[in-house]
Amino acid sequence: MLEHADAPTTAQTTARPPAPASAGPGVLAPNYEPLHVVLVSGEGSWVTDVDGRRYLDCLAGYSALNFGHRHPALVAAAKEQLDAITLTSRAFTHDLLEPFARAVTSLTGTETLLPMNTGAEAVETAVKAARKWGYDVKGVPDGEATIVVASGAFHGRTTTIVSMSDDPLTRDGFGPYTPGFRIVPYGDADAVAAAVDGTTVAVLVEPVQGESGVIIPPADYLPRLRALCDEHDVLLVLDEIQSGLGRTGTTLAQDLVGVRADLTTLGKALGGGILPVSAVVGRRDVLGVLTPGTHGSTFGGNPLACAVGIAVADLLVPGTLQARAATLGAELRARVEALLAEGLLASARTVGLWAGLDVEPSLGMTGRQTCELLAAHGVLAKDTHGSTIRLAPPLNIEREDLDLALDILTKVLRERRAAVGR
Ligand SMILES: *Cc1c(COP(=O)(O)O)cnc(C)c1O
Repeated sequence: MLEHADAPTTAQTTARPPAPASAGPGVLAPNYEPLHVVLVSGEGSWVTDVDGRRYLDCLAGYSALNFGHRHPALVAAAKEQLDAITLTSRAFTHDLLEPFARAVTSLTGTETLLPMNTGAEAVETAVKAARKWGYDVKGVPDGEATIVVASGAFHGRTTTIVSMSDDPLTRDGFGPYTPGFRIVPYGDADAVAAAVDGTTVAVLVEPVQGESGVIIPPADYLPRLRALCDEHDVLLVLDEIQSGLGRTGTTLAQDLVGVRADLTTLGKALGGGILPVSAVVGRRDVLGVLTPGTHGSTFGGNPLACAVGIAVADLLVPGTLQARAATLGAELRARVEALLAEGLLASARTVGLWAGLDVEPSLGMTGRQTCELLAAHGVLAKDTHGSTIRLAPPLNIEREDLDLALDILTKVLRERRAAVGR
């Protein structure tokens, strides 16, 4: 049971005195506006705040917590590694580096792995590899490489990556921008075809756009991009940092349509919710252009990261978590369809255990307000744009807990409709 079934309304909740952890004049930079929840512990799909209130975590760290909080196998792997060796730098090697690369490439059916830490670094790595491949192998004149990217995409926060973005909040004020990106509408293979020319080294897209609100492209989008890239000697780079590692009911989202990218970026769940671990996996000949000294990372592929990353791969090898995401995802979809039929949602998109829900405009609630109400009732979710919220619970969430979260969402939306008198 939720211990706070009679939780105060949002207004009262936000008026709650700041918890001790955030007491005093704030010294934290203001680049986030979190929900007013101060968490102190987590286990599985549940987290607990400083006041002992429990919440179902239906954001799961933007899929970094695909296996829930403190998964026993992942914590055990990390603890064991803490007592062995945690960092070597790549100036030396260690006993888990090659096993980590083997585990993740074999899981994903790829040839080679280049380890980094954050998602943005993996994307940067893919961009650098694609450009260098373009110059060294494809023969693009030096400095002229272009990469076709999609409108509405989210690939991270570095200056080069925000140069690929057309979201004003992400992009504006951070110029001068890195040249060499062509932004075309997402889901439109013809627009990609029109943007490709002799300078194009890569097409870089998310198989499902996460931050944009779980935007699912037409089923033939990735297959058409694959064919287009083959035809024009262009690399297909898929950013699976959020969509990958089980979320869509398959190991990678690209598996849903039987496409294999030349390079795939992984992150988030690869670190098991314990530490940042990212990687680019893909073609040996492409990643092979990054010869010694041309690219690297002090922490990339460190022993602790590899220990956790191997344990993550081990969790996914049997395929049961992916199957679970698909099964629970079907239930999620059924519940979402009921909300649509009831007129509480204007539109919705689900794939695997992942949903982008657009709250019916007549309810007069932003996604943020919806998430505040959900939090007051014990469910943590995240708004994206406008009136859209995103649900991405841990893949191993209990069926009853998923039901409970959706019961609460239904209740919140119904109460809101009653309140606005529609
Ligand atoms: C989160 C995310 C990133 C960036 O990852 P960070 O670890 O925050 O740098 C890149 N691409 C996609 C699709 C993401 O969801």
